[in-house]
This record gives sequence, structure tokens and C-alpha cells, in this order.
Amino acid sequence: MDSCETPAVRVLVVEDEVRLSAALKRGLEAEGFSVDVASNGSDGLWMATEQPYDVVVLDIMLPGINGLKVCETMRAKQIWTPVLMLTAKDGELDETEALEIGADDFLSKPFSYLVLVARLRALVRRGAGPRPVALSVGAITLDPVRRVCTSSGIPVELTPREFAVLEYLMRRADEVVPKGDILTNVWDFAYDGGDNVVEVHVSALRRKLEPAAIETIRGGGYRMSTARS
Ligand code: CA
Repeated sequence: MDSCETPAVRVLVVEDEVRLSAALKRGLEAEGFSVDVASNGSDGLWMATEQPYDVVVLDIMLPGINGLKVCETMRAKQIWTPVLMLTAKDGELDETEALEIGADDFLSKPFSYLVLVARLRALVRRGAGPRPVALSVGAITLDPVRRVCTSSGIPVELTPREFAVLEYLMRRADEVVPKGDILTNVWDFAYDGGDNVVEVHVSALRRKLEPAAIETIRGGGYRMSTARS
């Protein structure tokens, strides 16, 4: 943590279970994150409003203002810091609600620490910005907040990684997108497994959507076209 090359990613953890928040702080700091902890909703909301965090880990069940309300209030104040919500087990309703009020991702307790770190890195990479409405390219629509994809109006089940690849291609519709761009934006920058993994996911997407939805462009890229007939 003595590096001056890149500033540490700033994480706010809002969690009232002291043992869990202490473990998260310790673990995330060991990963090079800079971590602040708030133990109730009002402190969490205040800190998220006043400080420039890169990502917020927000428990739902909190004393005072609950996590859903904290997230909703942040978004109402135009604070778009990515939020990962921690939901109770079997909390399917909580999860739907969390996404609807502007959370970006959620994890059910108990969660894998490695998964948490990977999700936080992905959220930080995506960055803060007004939450987009559904994307649409040709017959395909994709709602990044609700995590729904349809092809000609029919829902399509995608893995999180397939979803991320498709979202990236749709955001750059009508461009030739090099495989390397997909790799660096969808996979961790430390990933060194090569381009094949992109091809595998594009093949899976073609099977699930339609073969012509994603063109292969000579020279090693892909394109989704809005004007495709
Ligand atoms: Ca709690």
C-alpha cells in the first residue's frame, strides 16, 4: 500500500455487524483497497454523500435508515457511486428491490470473499455515472439495472459474463470492437488467459440470441449493427 502509481480504490462499507465489517475492512485493505466503515444507515448516507468513494458495500438491514433507503436517497441526490448491496439469505424480494432503487449489484449473505472482491473490482471499473436505461440494438434489448435481456421480445438467460460481454458490445454498437477491448473491460485487467475466452462467450451469445446478432470482423473484432436488416 506504499505505491504512488495508482491511488487506492476507496470503499465505503456500511454494515452494523461489527465482526463482519471488521473482517471486510481487514480483507479489502489486504487487497489494496482503502476502506472506511459506517455502522448505521445515517452515517453511511452522510459519508457516501460527502466523500468521493469509488464503490459502496451496503448492508440492507441497518439500524436507523435501512440500506435500500440509503441507496434510494443517494440516487435521488444524483450520487452515482456504484453500490453493491448485501442481502439476507433467501432475500429474493430484497434483491429485486435493491436493483430497482438503483443498486448495481448484490450479494447474498453468507458470501464468498473472493466473489465480493471480484464484484467490487468490476463495479469500480464500470465507474459512476447516471444509470442507463435499457439498451437496444436490432431485435435485442438489454436492461443493465434489471439484468434482463430479450431477443425479439423473448427473454434470454445469460450468465453474468455473457451479459457483460453483450452489454459492452451494445454500448459500442456500430463500432468494430477489438477482442482486446472486450477482454480488458469485461475480465479483470490481471486476467492473462488470452482472447479465446472472448470467442467462447461470443459463440455462446450467438447460440442464445441469433447467429447473425454479432458479426465477426476480419482483423479480430466484433460488431453489432443497429441497422442490420
Ligand atoms: Ca445488518
